Amino acid sequence: MSFNNLQLIEPVLQALSKEGYTNPTPIQEKSIPVILQQRDLLGCAQTGTGKTAAFVIPILQLMHQHMQRSNQSQRRIKGLILTPTRELAIQIGESIEAYGRFLPLRHQVIFGGVSQHSQVQNMRRGVDILVATPGRLLDLMQQGHISLRDIQFFVLDEADRMLDMGFVHDVKRIIAKLPAKRQTLFFSATMPDEIKKLADILLTDPVKVEVTPPASTVDLIQQSLYLVDKQNKQSLLIHLLQDQSIETVLIFTQMKHAADKLSRSLNQSGIRTEAIHGNKSQNARQAALANFKNKQTRVLVATDIAARGIDIDELTHVVNYELPNVPETYVHRIGRTGRAGASGIAISFCDRSEKDFLKDVEKLIRKAIPVVKEHPFVASSLTTTNLLTRKPVSTVKSYRNTGESRRYGSSFKQRAASPGTRNTTRNISVQPKNKKEFDESW
Ligand code: AMP
Repeated sequence: MSFNNLQLIEPVLQALSKEGYTNPTPIQEKSIPVILQQRDLLGCAQTGTGKTAAFVIPILQLMHQHMQRSNQSQRRIKGLILTPTRELAIQIGESIEAYGRFLPLRHQVIFGGVSQHSQVQNMRRGVDILVATPGRLLDLMQQGHISLRDIQFFVLDEADRMLDMGFVHDVKRIIAKLPAKRQTLFFSATMPDEIKKLADILLTDPVKVEVTPPASTVDLIQQSLYLVDKQNKQSLLIHLLQDQSIETVLIFTQMKHAADKLSRSLNQSGIRTEAIHGNKSQNARQAALANFKNKQTRVLVATDIAARGIDIDELTHVVNYELPNVPETYVHRIGRTGRAGASGIAISFCDRSEKDFLKDVEKLIRKAIPVVKEHPFVASSLTTTNLLTRKPVSTVKSYRNTGESRRYGSSFKQRAASPGTRNTTRNISVQPKNKKEFDESW
């Protein structure tokens, strides 16, 4: 299937070709025709599947065609895209810019944490499509700068994340202001009950579109697990980062202060690193992200909320410096690599305090993450288990202080250099022992 089969207009096709896209991703192939038929859509898809283009492209096309027919002189906000984070809002704005480059439509991105002045000024000049985070949108609506009465297209993006971040109340207040007659597109990576209820309120006879469920998209990504004592995590990371074939790596910590601390230590070790999290100003976050995207910074340390939706083409490595306490977060994190079908590498560190988190992750992804048994900082007491099949697996002697460490860097390099190959079996021990031993050994 090519984009030419999707009844797209010439200016859109030209823009896609300029982006270098030839074929639609599965979510695009399924969603674009439905949206062009002006049906409501319930899309179950996470970032990395190409979902932004799946809704932006047909909205641009429908809006353009509608404007040509109606010959409206005054610009009013006809499309609203609501998304949970500033980073996602900016990225959606960039997508509109890219796919709409040959169309005379105007858009504006608004989010909190920065002065509203220039956002309001731009709104005054007239906008066709508004991309917004809920808080700033409500603010500007309350101040009378924005009216939603002309909305024809409404997109709720990352609905489950809106829920996680406590935005559902704000979202409901915004929905209450939308005209009843509109086309609504609803996207969520997961569909817990509360999200289903929200979808029921919002959508009229929707077409349901689902692409590979989140837990199975991780199959594309080569995952490995390093069992390591907490106090050795930093040394292990610095050791792994000596591999210069790792060009860009996104590292996750749980807490903001841990992100800062790690970033400082890596810089002191001569590894150019920046950190992004909610305490940083929006400008600082954008600057860090830009440096990372253009490869001035090799390492970006991030917390989950700050990194949500970060879209970096060619991100080859993700490191879970700390495992998340919510297993779905693991899937979201490693999904930052392996974008749009590319393969990527996800490395996770696990200390004994995180074994329950590991258990939950392995249950969710329905497999045991292969353990790298030979590295210089193997945890002092080391046994793990295949948590899903309940077949325990054990590893390995410690190579700490044996002088053998250098040798093992190469196994990492080998994997990094050829992410498509599954060459980990030699170094990953997975021989059954028993579960009791696993539990006792940590
Ligand atoms: P998204 O899921 O919207 O965050 O998109 C993930 C990534 O896929 C982004 O980097 C897009 O630029 C890229 N992308 C989207 N659609 C396509 C396509 N049809 N072909 C190649 N790359 C795409």
